Amino acid sequence: MLSDCLYHKYSYPDQGFVVHMLTSPTRSFLTNAYLIETENAVVAIDTFMLVSDAQALCALYDSIALPSGKPLLGIIITHGHPDHYNGTSTLIAGLKDVPVISSQGITDCIKNSVDAKQVKWKPFFGDDWPEHKILPNQWVADGTSLTLDGLQYHFRDLGAAESSSDLTITLGQQHSVVFVGDVVFNTMHGFMNDGHTQQWLAVLKQLAVELADVPLLFTGHGAPGKTAPLIAKQIQYLQTYRHHVSKLAGTAYALTSEQKICLEKILCNAYPDYQLKGFIQDGADAVAAEISEYNNQGLPP
Ligand SMILES: [Zn+2]
Repeated sequence: MLSDCLYHKYSYPDQGFVVHMLTSPTRSFLTNAYLIETENAVVAIDTFMLVSDAQALCALYDSIALPSGKPLLGIIITHGHPDHYNGTSTLIAGLKDVPVISSQGITDCIKNSVDAKQVKWKPFFGDDWPEHKILPNQWVADGTSLTLDGLQYHFRDLGAAESSSDLTITLGQQHSVVFVGDVVFNTMHGFMNDGHTQQWLAVLKQLAVELADVPLLFTGHGAPGKTAPLIAKQIQYLQTYRHHVSKLAGTAYALTSEQKICLEKILCNAYPDYQLKGFIQDGADAVAAEISEYNNQGLPP
């Protein structure tokens, strides 16, 4: 059964590529996965979490590949959260020798967390949670590029930001499109559970400078958007979230249930059009612990 993924297409005829974007339903967090189509081939960026969503990605690939014979040259994973890598086994089923490309840090992140994620989520999603896990098997380093079917994929290994290790991918020589994974959400509450918000803010401030000339960002969650306002909005969201967690938790490493409900109300009022509000309470303890840890070290929060 295919899921109700939404489809959008962004064509760059002068640069020789098309971005096919699929968005998963709310139950699997409105995650985006992408197929980059060039003259003779296709490359995937992220693969969704659930079998049904990954099957929708397969159907999209088939709709491109069956009439054209374009092979899937590789799968690039932006970070080690399952809504971005779990569908890899479904996507490559029946295909031969498709490299799964990512950084060493992301591979370690998946290796270290894949079992815990399955324990948490399989009871909820049942058979829609994939049985087989595929780890990245081709690693890229910060500042390096790969050329696939004539199109350059340039990688930035950002280290810890939204997750413990995040990768961005810039397409082509003109730098008109960058895939930022979950380092930037668009009109969605952020996933704060990994508790690296301090580094995340630093990375965003760095990206605002590095990507100043890039017109459009493709995000892990939410529509693509203009670079400067999208990064500014994400910085402001993180600062607001940290401010209210800190105010509610004081020196504590976790929030009470009542404080989490209060945090959700505050954030929903501040961002009434944002989706994924389930993330608000879920990440609060991680951020409270992160801020308290900094304070206890005598460092500014
Ligand atoms: Zn995500």
